[in-house]
Amino acid sequence: MRPNSVVSKCISVLRDICEQSGILHGESRQLELLFNSALDQYTPAHFIVEEFVSEPLYKLIATKGLWLMDLRIVWTADAIWEHYKDVLGKNPSVYINGWKWGHNTNFRGFREYDCGIGALMSMHKEGKAIDFDIAGVPAEDVRKEILDNEGAEWAQFISRMENDTSWVHIDCAETVMDGIQLFGSGS
Ligand SMILES: [Zn+2]
Repeated sequence: MRPNSVVSKCISVLRDICEQSGILHGESRQLELLFNSALDQYTPAHFIVEEFVSEPLYKLIATKGLWLMDLRIVWTADAIWEHYKDVLGKNPSVYINGWKWGHNTNFRGFREYDCGIGALMSMHKEGKAIDFDIAGVPAEDVRKEILDNEGAEWAQFISRMENDTSWVHIDCAETVMDGIQLFGSGS
């Protein structure tokens, strides 16, 4: 099942739940929790769990590592893969954590609370962020593509991006602004 159809299904399920339980649109935290439980059946199509958690954490909790991630971000990773398949005309290589293949990348998805990498209150520690590279596409070009597609279904959950980094950081932090917020490096 393609990510878009999964989300369409989830949104219709969510709408039914909200109508039945009288939840108002503004109660976003509750909506977020409901959305994640609706997405709970979602497993990534183009990534494995090891790409979202560190090697030590994976050895402790294995595939349950996906439960630590906000599934909107996991879904978005698949959606980016699908989008770049169309852009590049071939299967893209999208790299998050590569420790499983011998690379020294462990903390580009979920970060444990005592992880000293990045900002103290990083969205990575809430499972709401990923850092990634797409082979052959500069990070700046990926950021531009995301900004140019603001509001498109595949980019719908991206609320923030880090600016001026050689990798792409996206997250789904709650923001008070409309559109995608760009912020300085270190978060
Ligand atoms: Zn990051």
